[in-house]
Amino acid sequence: MTASLLLRNVRPYAGATIDILIEGGRITRMAPDIQAPAGITVEEGRGEIALPGLVEAHTHLDKSLWGQPWYVNEVGPRLLDKIDNERENKKRLDIDPARQSARQSIQSSLMGSTHIRSHVDVDTEHGMWGIEGVMRTRDGYRDIVDIELVAFPQSGLLRRPGTLELMDEAMKLGAEIVGGLDPCTIDRDPKGHLDAVFELCQRYGKPLDIHLHEPGEVGAFSMDMIIERTRALGMKGKVTISHAFCLGTPDPALIDPLIEQLAELDIAIMTTAPASRPAPPVKKLLAAGIRVCSGSDGIRDTWGPYGNADMLERAMFVGLRNNLRRDDELRLALDVCTTEGAKVMDLAGYGLGEGCVGDLVLLPGETVAEAIVTRSPKRRVVKRGKLVARDGVSIRTAP
Ligand SMILES: [Zn+2]
Repeated sequence: MTASLLLRNVRPYAGATIDILIEGGRITRMAPDIQAPAGITVEEGRGEIALPGLVEAHTHLDKSLWGQPWYVNEVGPRLLDKIDNERENKKRLDIDPARQSARQSIQSSLMGSTHIRSHVDVDTEHGMWGIEGVMRTRDGYRDIVDIELVAFPQSGLLRRPGTLELMDEAMKLGAEIVGGLDPCTIDRDPKGHLDAVFELCQRYGKPLDIHLHEPGEVGAFSMDMIIERTRALGMKGKVTISHAFCLGTPDPALIDPLIEQLAELDIAIMTTAPASRPAPPVKKLLAAGIRVCSGSDGIRDTWGPYGNADMLERAMFVGLRNNLRRDDELRLALDVCTTEGAKVMDLAGYGLGEGCVGDLVLLPGETVAEAIVTRSPKRRVVKRGKLVARDGVSIRTAP
């Protein structure tokens, strides 16, 4: 599934105009006026910006309502209301994880994402339905996007007996990452929850990516317990904390010691840059050497109506939420949605350079900052040297 392609007249990161030669799925040369090897496909870049493939580092492919009739949301205000509402109505609403994950994956690819980390629900009502469905999409759509799965106990791990055994089954089936969720406020047993998910990580030799919505002091307490276990179990560089709203607390005495330890243990942070919640300070985290990635989270699902899988728009949200105005700051926002995400997902050969995998996106624009705020829908997406999307049309048809 690798291809060869010569991209003429493109501007990597809006720099000087060059050609990019991709052979056998890898970028082999980046230079002006490259001689076209015999028989190679040539694509005229028209002086457009070339960026490495966008990285969707946190979403939920199994639960999107993309392509379904509009869902009238009347769900209650608590996190548990949303969790229970979704689990109880998934079958009735015909949210088939295989079909829905395929639809969202195609949409992501159209928008320029070449890699997706998807949390996938594991619960006692639906068992492996989500995991098996998203795995089918992962295997069936490899030509347009790479997907990795996080086994995610969305309904809680200990409050619904049997879930831990299902998490174990999901890891056996081949989920790449262990997930977790709000150990204090959902399971009301932080020690029990964290010991269980870390034990799964140890048993399968896999990383952890835990949802931590808990705000303020409670979130800081949970984060401290995650840090404690990361250190004790030698899992430096193997843990991601998603959302981490507690880091948005405007109290240096609370968050600075946490940031210091996150950096020391190379614990990554995922933020969607939410408009309505406290959010981790992206610039401060990056300056501390912490890997920071971003994602769409749920896209048009029973939790909320928002989202279009555009990680360039997400870069704009990162900019808006963090008061990034300068061009060099907007470049940081793009990094969060590209290279930083790749570091969090540990993607081998990622980047826009000779020797890297030929995953990239072309789009019109004068500078990177302008491309982020304009978000042109006229994008061309290349996956392993093959043009897989052009101006909103994919080579794959949505089911
Ligand atoms: Zn999530």
